[in-house]
Amino acid sequence: MAFVITQSCCSDAGCVSVCPVNCIHPTPEERGFGSSDILHIDPEACIDCGACADACPVNAIFPADRLGAKDKVFIEINAGYYKDNPDISSGWSDVVYPEIPRLPAGLRVAVVGTGPSGGYALRTLLNRTRAHVTVIDKLPTPGGLVRAGVAPDHPSTRDVMRTFDLLHRDPHVTMATNVEIGDDVDHGQITPAELAEHFDAVFYAVGASQSRRLGIAGEDLPGSIAASDLVAWYNAVPGADGPSIPNDGTGRAVVVGTGNVALDIARILVSPPDLLARTDIADRALGLLRSQNVHEVVVLGRRGQRDAAYTEAEYRALSTIEGVEIVVHDEADGPLPDLSGPADPSRRRIVFLFHTTPQSAVGEDRLESVTVATGGREHRIAADLLVRSIGYRAVRIPGLPFDEERGHFPNADGRVVDEAGNVVPGAYVLGWAGRGPSGGIGANKQHAIETVERFIDDVANERIRRPATEPEAFDELLRKRNRKVVGYRGMRKIDRREQAAGEREGRPRVKFTEISDMLAVAGRRRR
Ligand code: NAP
Repeated sequence: MAFVITQSCCSDAGCVSVCPVNCIHPTPEERGFGSSDILHIDPEACIDCGACADACPVNAIFPADRLGAKDKVFIEINAGYYKDNPDISSGWSDVVYPEIPRLPAGLRVAVVGTGPSGGYALRTLLNRTRAHVTVIDKLPTPGGLVRAGVAPDHPSTRDVMRTFDLLHRDPHVTMATNVEIGDDVDHGQITPAELAEHFDAVFYAVGASQSRRLGIAGEDLPGSIAASDLVAWYNAVPGADGPSIPNDGTGRAVVVGTGNVALDIARILVSPPDLLARTDIADRALGLLRSQNVHEVVVLGRRGQRDAAYTEAEYRALSTIEGVEIVVHDEADGPLPDLSGPADPSRRRIVFLFHTTPQSAVGEDRLESVTVATGGREHRIAADLLVRSIGYRAVRIPGLPFDEERGHFPNADGRVVDEAGNVVPGAYVLGWAGRGPSGGIGANKQHAIETVERFIDDVANERIRRPATEPEAFDELLRKRNRKVVGYRGMRKIDRREQAAGEREGRPRVKFTEISDMLAVAGRRRR
């Protein structure tokens, strides 16, 4: 669909700063800003979240399919800007849709995962085929990383879920959440082989939810935590354990890595808790952040600032956090600032140390300091918390090929391949689970769309095997195996209850942190 900027654009660039995928140009820093009549949305990169439309002070931004006749010309004008300026476009080649081939009747498809990749695959499947789609998620709440990964102080990115909610209630869709794919059938799991038996195709959009390890001594000391666990904890993911941070510690955390996840974590740790209290951050995290009060975060980059992995927009946003100072040390050889004692409690700051790598996490029973190396010398940084944020990896699903080294499901253009490199018919993998954990929602959207197009091509060329089972057979299997399946109505009940709790506190929502509470609200008591 994509949003489109129309004639009344005032170029105040409010939309540019709220766009979670930076797809509005020219930005105030770019050539052409000020001389261009209007700003333009890149239709291929737009994730349809609507944040720009909400931020627009002059009501100039609309979904493409809601434009009046006189404004339709702006679809071409927005897209044309990126054709004329390929250097600032997202760089994706034009997607050329083939004529929709004649698909066999009654296609049955499963999408595993309700994050952005699963959502965009579902949308493409509904737009391009007449398949019946069963959407599966291991949690009772949809959203994948939109709910579990996006930082609580970035609420506009979550708006993409509004689009997916419309799809989840489509009559061609059956929602089956609180259902895990794996080999533990005694605990209600459904195996990949069973999915293959009941569906023409299965799209695995399961993301990459585990952090890579640093491989340094002391990495498993209490007080040292993976970014994936910390993020899941502050985003209220059931079962996610939080860090232990002493109340009388140094007031300092060290985060390794300079990607956007590291920046999200630094921001959340250092922001005044009263600011976070307006978000949907988990109460358990807010409570701990209030009581232990980390007020300095040191971010370690192994290369220089010009090679930092964060995006410019996220870096700039750090300087807008009330009362937080940003310090950058970017010398390969110069002495590091002395961080061997506790952080100064009178200020909040984020200190970037580039050209610096962690050597070991040190402490008796828990983390007390981190030894780092820079310019051939070692230094000690006193710290209560060490977060490794050096990239994610997917989690193996027994019964599916998995590349342990790279931490993803091996595939050829989204088609799952086995160890010998042969395509597993009817199995596809989307987004981070297949591409690896880089790029945001926009990149995964494109991957999902392209992979569904390949499935359509496979169907048209008879490269899939039709299931021998009856259409109702999967529902029967599922309900026999797992008596706590949550459908669309149950999901909505959970959603409404969370939003109502949020409304009472002036927050977007108060998230449940226990599956049993979610199931009780959805009308399905836990076994
Ligand atoms: P990332 O962008 O790949 O960054 C990983 C960081 O870890 C890099 O700084 C990398 O340094 C460093 N690193 C890797 N191995 C290391 C090692 N052994 N020792 C020290 N440092 C090491 O990963 P991410 O932050 O997890 O983000 C994943 C994706 O999600 C990114 O595309 C990101 O933009 C996206 N994301 C976007 C947003 C947003 O738009 N707001 C928010 C969160 C995530 P080198 O560069 O030297 O390898």
